[in-house]
Amino acid sequence: MTFRSRRASNQNSYLRSMPRLNKNNTLTLGDALKVSRPRAFMMMAKPIGPICNLNCTYCYYLEKDRLYQNSSSFKMSDEILEEFIKQFIDSHEVPIVSFTWQGGEPTLLGLDFFEKVVTFQAKYRGNKRIENALQTNGTRLDEAWCRFLKRNDFLVGVSIDGPAKYHNYYRKFKNGQPSF
Ligand code: SF4
Repeated sequence: MTFRSRRASNQNSYLRSMPRLNKNNTLTLGDALKVSRPRAFMMMAKPIGPICNLNCTYCYYLEKDRLYQNSSSFKMSDEILEEFIKQFIDSHEVPIVSFTWQGGEPTLLGLDFFEKVVTFQAKYRGNKRIENALQTNGTRLDEAWCRFLKRNDFLVGVSIDGPAKYHNYYRKFKNGQPSF
């Protein structure tokens, strides 16, 4: 059996073990909640909502600020941040909990926000291992950011659209300057 067919076979046996599969081999959320395996899930946190320092021509997310026209700030408060981290860790029944931080541009929150992130995670992690992933456009990463991200073992995704001439065609700062 090839690796691929073995993997497909494993996936099929996993799916067969699920309750009440419909004819498309998919589950409703209600069915998934009945699965008796340890609970684990992914969630993308967007603690600064759609706010970004770039204005990429294809961005589908910047306009979401119109959904909250009365908001003066999209920044997640310290109280919500702490409660989110506590509940997210508590909700996992597996030994590794993975946080994913996105924006907009999450580094606009400043290093002090992410210092609080790792402090709250340490406070609530118990015996669980915490992982963090940060997706950024990279324009604000300086020495201090890099030291913090390395020290806390963040997985960092930097959005770049290939060579500068392609990247700068779409990905400009709000003032129209290229961001490469
Ligand atoms: S960096 Fe990302 S969030 Fe910011 S404008 Fe570009 S696509 Fe949108």
